[in-house]
Amino acid sequence: MYRKTIEILVPDPSNDFSYLTKEIIESLEKEKATIYPITLGVDQCYIIRGEKTIMIDAGSPKQAKSFRKAVERLSIKPEDIKLIVLTHGHWDHIGTAKEIKDLTGGKLALHQKEKDWLEKSLKPLPPGVTAWGKTFGKILALFMPLIHISATDVDIVLGDGEFPLSEYGIPGKILYTPGHSMGSVSIVYCSIRGILSWET
Ligand SMILES: [Zn+2]
Repeated sequence: MYRKTIEILVPDPSNDFSYLTKEIIESLEKEKATIYPITLGVDQCYIIRGEKTIMIDAGSPKQAKSFRKAVERLSIKPEDIKLIVLTHGHWDHIGTAKEIKDLTGGKLALHQKEKDWLEKSLKPLPPGVTAWGKTFGKILALFMPLIHISATDVDIVLGDGEFPLSEYGIPGKILYTPGHSMGSVSIVYCSIRGILSWET
C-alpha cells in the first residue's frame, strides 16, 4: 500500500510518445537532470535537479530535520527547490509539507480532490484492497490520533488535465492518475530515451 517503486521503461515502438514535444526533446538533449531519493519517515521522496530543482512528496510528519540533513548532504540549497509535488494527500506524503515549504519557499502542488487534507490537516486512510491492506489500515487507524500534520495552503491546485514541468526546468509533466486515492497524480519524467514513473 505504501510501497513505491521506480522502474525505467524502455520505450516500445507501440507506445504513444506524442507527448514528447519539441520542447521536451530539446530539454532531453541538454539534459543533466539527476534524481535523488531521500527518505523522510516512512515515505521515499525524490529531489529532481534539472535546470531547476523540484521535489516529489514531503514525507511523514516531523521530518524537517531529516530534510535539512538530506539537502545538506546533497549540497542542494533549500531555496533552490521551487516546486514540491505531492503525489497524493495521505499523511505520509504531506506530513512535512508546511515545514519544507517554509524552508525552501517552493510552491506546493496537490490535486484539488485532496487539497483540503493539507489545508485542514485531515488524515483519511485508504480503505485497503487486500485482506492485509484492510487489516493494516485498522492497525494504522489506532495510531492516527498521535499523528499531526501542519496545515498550510496549497499553491498550485492540480486538476484533471496535465501540468507541464517545463516551467520548472524539468523535462516531464504531472498526470492525474486516480487509483490509490482519488487525488493521486504521477510524474512522467522523460530521461535518456526512457521514462521514469512511479506508483503508490
Ligand atoms: Zn497513500
